[in-house]
Amino acid sequence: MRFVVTPRHRYLEVEGEGKEGVVTFPTWVPGSYFIREPERNVIFYDGYPLSKNKFWINGKFKYVYYANSKDQREVISLSDYLFINPVSLFPFQDLNEKYCVKININWPIHTTLKREGEWFCAENYDEFADAPIQSSPYLKLIKIDESHFISTIDDFNEIEKLQRILNTLDNYMEDKVENYIFFFRRSDKNFGGIEHKDSSAIVVNWDRKDLLWLFAHEYFHRWNVKRMKPKDLEINYESETYTDLLWVAEGLTDYIAFLSLIDSEVISSNEALKSIANILQNLTFPGFKKMSVAESSKFTWIKLYKKDENYLNIGISYYDAGFIIGLLMDFTIRERSKCEKSIVNFMRELYKVKRYTYSDVKRIAEKFGIDFLDEVVYKRNPPLFDLLGHYLEIKFTDKHKPYYGIKVENNIITFIEDDSPAYLAGLNIGDEIVAIDGVKKSLEVKDSMVLTVLREGRLKEIKLSSGKNPGHRILLRGEGGLFKCLFKSEKGEGEGEQKIL
Ligand SMILES: [Zn+2]
Repeated sequence: MRFVVTPRHRYLEVEGEGKEGVVTFPTWVPGSYFIREPERNVIFYDGYPLSKNKFWINGKFKYVYYANSKDQREVISLSDYLFINPVSLFPFQDLNEKYCVKININWPIHTTLKREGEWFCAENYDEFADAPIQSSPYLKLIKIDESHFISTIDDFNEIEKLQRILNTLDNYMEDKVENYIFFFRRSDKNFGGIEHKDSSAIVVNWDRKDLLWLFAHEYFHRWNVKRMKPKDLEINYESETYTDLLWVAEGLTDYIAFLSLIDSEVISSNEALKSIANILQNLTFPGFKKMSVAESSKFTWIKLYKKDENYLNIGISYYDAGFIIGLLMDFTIRERSKCEKSIVNFMRELYKVKRYTYSDVKRIAEKFGIDFLDEVVYKRNPPLFDLLGHYLEIKFTDKHKPYYGIKVENNIITFIEDDSPAYLAGLNIGDEIVAIDGVKKSLEVKDSMVLTVLREGRLKEIKLSSGKNPGHRILLRGEGGLFKCLFKSEKGEGEGEQKIL
């Protein structure tokens, strides 16, 4: 199929050319596990609608696409900027045929699609859908080294550190890449990143500083998810695809990215421990006992990717738990091999499998002496803390201290822990605290107080007494030979930033 795209402010005009028959618009964007319905933006001119995302065409057809999403998983067209994630914009017929696009624009265009004259092409729809296109009169291509680039209208200040990290990751997988592009943009919201085969698209807010971990994470997806992936994660562009293994695809990817920051000497052991403590803290809430890591992966389409304000009470994240499993695997492999091997060797072995199942993961892990996967992956309330306690000192610095069980932002309650004093007192998420004991002042934890809250426009007085904190704020300490083998320092200490009152 061929497409000619003419950008207009907030819209794209698309002329398509295929065969007489059905065209199908994808209903989700691979790498982002929920039915996003990007085809909601299509205004179809020719052809006959068969369903929400399928049209019958006579060969040539035309549609207009409302393109005003700041999300890097979608499409935006403004008077001075264009970003296309093709899977959100273009339909398919035969997935195995060649797809080409021409953009009627005079600005510089960056994409990993193959240039053929004035066309940008891919050999099949999977490749076409997976190669973003960015354009702007202000577009720059920042060179990290011979094979890595950042395409952006903004600035990126940590080129030297990023280059070290990318080199570390290339060395991990013993693989050099030809051309890889980070499509990067600052925005007013932290959208995050999404992986592609030879690129990634990253959109973050202006305040966000810790970009290197995110860049490393997306870059490691080049292997894990794009060149190797859970066998059952086959792409069907129109429906959910279920796997128990997103903890490998995402959690272990995040851990390896983190490890590359340590090995590239970009973060200190104290900073590393603080990051681990922050992740562990998410596993101290009631949801940890209600959902296994495998369930978190399977339910992501309706739970994690549609996370609401109550998520910590009902579930866990396969990113968080997968990261901690990665850390445990790494400690175990280093311990058993006397620091000769690490999780990197496990990943190299898994890479040979390409389309991996849980039995592959388990079989390879067992070769490296890891025997706890069944327990930590398939059990609710998995023994992650017990296992980690073998390698690091874990201290709950707020345990048994007075607390209410709430998180508050700008006087609005944003989270309430189930069965906490605040829950039992009848407070609700969204309640705005307007007074404490009849006075407007900031909230602090006392034995008891009367809160005046605004709920749905009504003023309410609620008596709140503190109870004992079950322990959410974590301090990690480590030292010794094995610690040094992983963290490259004799000892370290880091505390998480938990803000529950
Ligand atoms: Zn990811």
